[in-house]
Amino acid sequence: MSERPGPYEQRPPLPVLRRTRVLAVTLAALAATALAGCGGGAAAGDGQGGRTKESLPQPGQSATERAAPSDAPTPSSASQPLAGKTVVIDPGHNPGNFDHPREIAKQVDIGTNRKECDTTGTASNDGYREADFNLDVSRRLRDLLEKQGATVKLTQDDDRPFGPCIDERARIGNEAEADAVLSVHADGSAPGHRGYHVILPAQVKEGSADTTKIVGPSRELGEQLAEEFGRATGTEPSNYVGGGTGLHVRDDLGGLNLSTVPKVFIECGNMRDAKDLALLTSPEWRQKAAQGMANGITTFLAG
Ligand SMILES: [Zn+2]
Repeated sequence: MSERPGPYEQRPPLPVLRRTRVLAVTLAALAATALAGCGGGAAAGDGQGGRTKESLPQPGQSATERAAPSDAPTPSSASQPLAGKTVVIDPGHNPGNFDHPREIAKQVDIGTNRKECDTTGTASNDGYREADFNLDVSRRLRDLLEKQGATVKLTQDDDRPFGPCIDERARIGNEAEADAVLSVHADGSAPGHRGYHVILPAQVKEGSADTTKIVGPSRELGEQLAEEFGRATGTEPSNYVGGGTGLHVRDDLGGLNLSTVPKVFIECGNMRDAKDLALLTSPEWRQKAAQGMANGITTFLAG
């Protein structure tokens, strides 16, 4: 079927003891709650309200008095914590990929292997396409990051007929010398598989792939994203991959293997699970998802 999930969307169920996994998930969730409760801190976003009030002219105040007091936070550190930072957002797949099966099947070099240029991504059983979800969330995220002062570039904005290929997606982040890159996805797994996870690059050094320098910072970025995404959306980490941590290391994704800047993927939920799908199809939830991502990126870059 044309809506079959791409090769990296569908993960086989892990052959481990179910009960152990459930316990691990519960413990991890409790740990996350405990961490959140002890002042993990509001990541982003609230600086603006304070500054707006501060800079409002008061009745009877002279121009000099209205000038910002010397100890006032500067716009770049308060309302624009991401000023000077470049973030590349990579909306996974492309709605046009469905019409270009031959082009996206072309093999490209990912260092460790050769792999298809791109895939269609998954879709819900009733036809809501992952590519459309990814693009919508990515645009919301772009708006939020730009408000924080970041320079934001999308690898595609439904402005090309298909792709880009996964090697080009990596190259766009590299050439932008991005401070962080986030590839936005939703998964296509079995019903009952729920929750989000962040995919981190493995240590890979083969051919044109060398992730040595990005493994550490990418993990840091991924941990912040997983925590803030869960907090903003009120959803749990994946119950089918990552052992309840919401983190999963992979060495088979060209977009990560070929990156020379900190980069992770996020799988926001499972489009083949009815409960997850009810969230993914809600514009309000997608806004929360984008906010969680923005908070994670801001904490990583400016926290
Ligand atoms: Zn995908």
